[in-house]
Formats: sequence, structure tokens, C-alpha cells
Amino acid sequence: MASIGFIGVGNMGGPMAANLAKAGHTVKAFDLSKESVDKAVAAGCEPAETVTDAARDVDVIVTMLPAGKHVAHVYEGTDGVFATAAPGTLMIDCSTIDVDTARAVIAAAEDKGFPMVDAPVSGGVGGAEAGTLTFMVGGTEEAAEKARPFLEIMGKTVVHAGDAGNGQAAKICNNMMLGIQMLSVAEAFMLAKRLGLDYQKLFDISSKASGQCWSLTTYCPVPGPVPTSPANRDYQPGFATDMMLKDLKLAQDAAGKAGASTPLGAAAESLYQMMSSKGNGGLDFSAIIKMIDGEI
Ligand code: NAD
Repeated sequence: MASIGFIGVGNMGGPMAANLAKAGHTVKAFDLSKESVDKAVAAGCEPAETVTDAARDVDVIVTMLPAGKHVAHVYEGTDGVFATAAPGTLMIDCSTIDVDTARAVIAAAEDKGFPMVDAPVSGGVGGAEAGTLTFMVGGTEEAAEKARPFLEIMGKTVVHAGDAGNGQAAKICNNMMLGIQMLSVAEAFMLAKRLGLDYQKLFDISSKASGQCWSLTTYCPVPGPVPTSPANRDYQPGFATDMMLKDLKLAQDAAGKAGASTPLGAAAESLYQMMSSKGNGGLDFSAIIKMIDGEI
């Protein structure tokens, strides 16, 4: 079994670290929040006092942090991971961050001789707890294969998406599709209501017709047709509007730098921003239908 330093044991990192510990690995957990470390310890991890403490004498380092600036700081800062880790330590960043930072940090790791991948996830807190996350992995074939056994404990699908940063690229492309698709479903249900077409009838038809998509069949934004969707529990997340907004901002940032025209992605970002600015960032992103319908 391996010795693992896990940095960032919040809503996602906490259960992910717990699953590594449950599988028999020794996991040293560090977070700026003592409460989060305490929870990880209760779930089978050992406490680490600092980044240095978590990164010292381990085989693998996993990070699950809010944004690119935190990842760059934890790896590259004074007393950071690069300054502490033993030669050859495998590094896996599971945070959702901008492509440029992911590529820069992995390039710095490779310069220092550390194999490293970006491995953002899809699946949310439920997936992290159940160990059913999907990992999108960027990095060399060799680093991705080294990371695979650890990712397979925390998730059920692991896809190597190509070179460094391509995990992040896959994540933001996927979530841009999702954000746009949810808007299309929301607009259609709003129009159906005004045309006197029953929600369930539209669902029965479109779920078998060309409008079919995940936002409709798994995550329907109106109560009724899909009993497990957040619409049936007052839009409690699920996947919060502010999380969707974060990913859409990353997609727009990447599109701007790549010279890619993504007008629907830009419109989606603006609409979820409006939703957030109205104080609804904590609602599930499917609650955008309430804004489109003029209810909020
Ligand atoms: P979170 O805020 O619950 O956890 C992040 C943790 O990082 C916090 O506990 C914070 O204290 C810690 N942290 C910040 N800076 C640190 C530092 N310098 N050293 C140590 N710890 C530090 O957020 P989360 O929901 O767990 O999300 C983590 C990442 O996963 C984000 O990039 C997010 O976009 C991504 N993600 C989240 C979800 C979800 O549903 N929550 C789904 C997919 C991806």
C-alpha cells in the first residue's frame, strides 16, 4: 500500500481521501480548515499540520483545491509540494482549474522530475462519497498509468484525455455543453407551459425524440418527470449555480485565449451570472428555469 499526502479535504477532497484510506492506503490530510482535517481524520486519515507535513515522505500527493491560484501556491510556493516531496513522487491535481495554470504547474513538476497529471472530476459530492467519480486525465501516458490505480479507488471511470491540461480542457468543454443544454431544456419547458403543453407530455415525447439530452432525461428542471432531479427538492444542489458559473468562466477564459468563438457559452455564462447576482448562486443550476420563467 502507498503513503499519500492529500491537500484540500473539503466537500470533494474529504470523501475522496476517505476512500483512499478505506482502501488501505496511509493518507495524511491537510487543509487550511481544521474542521475539514478533523472530518478526514474521523474517516480514517492521519492529520497533517502543513503542506510540507503532508508532502514529506509520501509516494503520492493528491490535491483538491478551489482554483488555479491555490494549486500554483500549494505546488510552487516556498515550503510547497515541489520544495518538499521526495524525488519521483507522483502528483495528481484533481481540482477544476484553468488550463494554463494546469499546464504550467505540470511543466514545472516535470522539470523537477516529478510525474504529474491534472485529473479533474465529474460526479459531485455524491460521486466522491460513493467512489463513482469520472476522472478526465491530462499528462504523459506514463504518469496517467501511474495515477490510474489511485483514481480507480476514488472513481469508476478514468479517461486519459491526452497531454497535460487536457483533463481540464475536457472538463470545461463538457460543462459548457451541460450549461447550454440546461438552458435549452429550460426555455423549451417555459414555452410549453405558455402553449398549454403538459410538462410530462413534453418529457415523454422529447426524451424519445431529437431533443433528448442528459439535462432532460436525468436532470429535468421541472418537478415531476424525473423524481430524482433537484427540481423535486426545491432545487437544492446537486450542482450549484455558482459551480456551473465557475466552469463557464473557465471555458470563456480558455476560449478567449485560444481564439475560439463560443457565443452560446458566453450567453450561458452571462445568464448563470445573472442568476448568481440575484442571490441564487447556491441553488442547483437547473433552477435557471425559474429565472427564465420570470419567477426569480
Ligand atoms: P471546498 O471549498 O469544499 O474544498 C476546497 C478545500 O481547499 C477547502 O476545504 C479549503 O480550505 C482548502 N484549501 C484552499 N486553499 C488551501 C491551501 N492553500 N492549502 C490547503 N487547503 C486549502 O470545494 P470542493 O467542492 O471540494 O471543490 C474542490 C474542487 O473540486 C474545485 O476545484 C471544484 O471546482 C471541483 N469540483 C467540485 C464539485 C462539487 O460538486 N463540489 C464537482 C466537481 C469538481
